[in-house]
Amino acid sequence: MSGEQTDTGVVVIGAGLAGLSAASELVDAGVQVEVLEARDRVGGRTWNTEIGGQANELGGQWVSPYQEAVLETLEKLGLETFPSYRVGSHVYIDPEGTAHRYEGEDFPFPEESASAYEAALARLDELAGQMDPEAPWDHPDAVALDSVTFESWLEAEVADDMARDMLRSMLAGGFIAKPAQSFSVLQGLWMIAGAGGTYELFEPEQCLASRVVGGSQAIANGLAARLGDRVRLNTPVSAIEWSDGGVVAQAPGLSVRARQAVVAVPPNMTNAIRFEPGLPGWRQRLAQDLSQGSIIKVLAVYEEPFWRADGLSGQGFGPYQLVRELYDNSPPSGQPGVLVTFLAGEAAEAAARMDPVDRRAAVLEGMARYLGGEALNPEEYIEVDWSSQEWTRGAYGTSYGTGGLTRFRDDLRRPVGPIEWACSDIAGEGHIHMEGAIRMGRRAASACLERLG
Ligand SMILES: Cc1cc2nc3c(=O)[nH]c(=O)nc-3n(C[C@H](O)[C@H](O)[C@H](O)COP(=O)(O)OP(=O)(O)OC[C@H]3O[C@@H](n4cnc5c(N)ncnc54)[C@H](O)[C@@H]3O)c2cc1C
Repeated sequence: MSGEQTDTGVVVIGAGLAGLSAASELVDAGVQVEVLEARDRVGGRTWNTEIGGQANELGGQWVSPYQEAVLETLEKLGLETFPSYRVGSHVYIDPEGTAHRYEGEDFPFPEESASAYEAALARLDELAGQMDPEAPWDHPDAVALDSVTFESWLEAEVADDMARDMLRSMLAGGFIAKPAQSFSVLQGLWMIAGAGGTYELFEPEQCLASRVVGGSQAIANGLAARLGDRVRLNTPVSAIEWSDGGVVAQAPGLSVRARQAVVAVPPNMTNAIRFEPGLPGWRQRLAQDLSQGSIIKVLAVYEEPFWRADGLSGQGFGPYQLVRELYDNSPPSGQPGVLVTFLAGEAAEAAARMDPVDRRAAVLEGMARYLGGEALNPEEYIEVDWSSQEWTRGAYGTSYGTGGLTRFRDDLRRPVGPIEWACSDIAGEGHIHMEGAIRMGRRAASACLERLG
């Protein structure tokens, strides 16, 4: 062992919202903590940038009313939210590529498609309502629902094309960020149940309700500021030696001995850490079955939010488009104007193969289909391909292929010796959201406290 050696009560690996929440709870309970973070910043999948001198976000950003743990944390840190801008008409692009303006929350579908869409949402809610989000594998029809891909379910259950295409776009594109043929209905239902239902997950007035003043990374920054020099940046943990007596976490030039560890990295990233002795077989297998979705987040910046003057909210949906969703992401002042879109799943993978200049042109052209030619000439164009982020390797989070949830069940959260796991991706409530990260951090902290006596 060379370099600095230190002893602590709990070593937390990863300073995303899960790790920082765990560390905060432990410190409040009087436990000694060290937080080791690979990146040169805290926040993980929440990541601020500055546009026109004001905070904007490259990662997670929207706070929904159901996100109680996020709201509590904001209050504790003295942070505020502001309502997302959604005033005016929204735009829907139909299968023929025609843009339609509409008001309210209902897509301007023909009557038949509208009722098919509502019926499918009701069916998904019924199935999700039978699920305890903390134990999706215990759903009464878990095995059957985990054997069917979301695509097959859509084909069998939703006869109307437009309704089916929109639902695919919402769940596979909007949340799992993988092709609908690559994950099970059960996995999709977990996402829905974790938010409280399709209304909470899909409806913009809920899922896009508000944003954090100062950007969502302000939450992580606020938690880290309270932890002070207990948080070490640029400290990637490469190995964890463990026994029933404790752990030693190894990073370049540092080894931290602790009685307990909270590994608060996305489950796919545990594969990048060497465990000594190796993790049990069940844990190694599940980590190989979980994989990240694909997301490229794009922000386009304009002197003014020009769409507002045209009576448009900036919100658009087009399941058949490269730019499948679009929102006004301007700061609270409304200046400059910022548009945000997320290329997801296959679209993100195809776009990542494009020449960057062609990709930029295609995305801006895609935005212009909703809002007109002014979208073609932003002052600034910012994109983050989350798959190329070394310490995340995808987004929004990890999910199994068919059968994984029922095969591995609560192994996802099962501790190994003195190691607890914490991450939004293993959360029930707030699954793959900031809410789930905070909840899982708190949960891991309580488990450590219990064991530390
Ligand atoms: C583009 C995007 C949009 C999103 N939109 C929303 C939204 O609008 N609303 C919402 O609620 N959620 C959203 N999310 C999801 C939300 O951001 C995440 O679910 C949440 O932030 C995850 O927190 P976490 O702490 O569980 O994991 P992470 O944030 O991934 O944190 C894990 C940390 O571990 C570190 N790490 C990894 N490996 C190591 C290692 N070996 N050693 C040390 N450190 C390591 C990483 O650098 C990272 O800091 C979005 C996510 C993305 C990417």
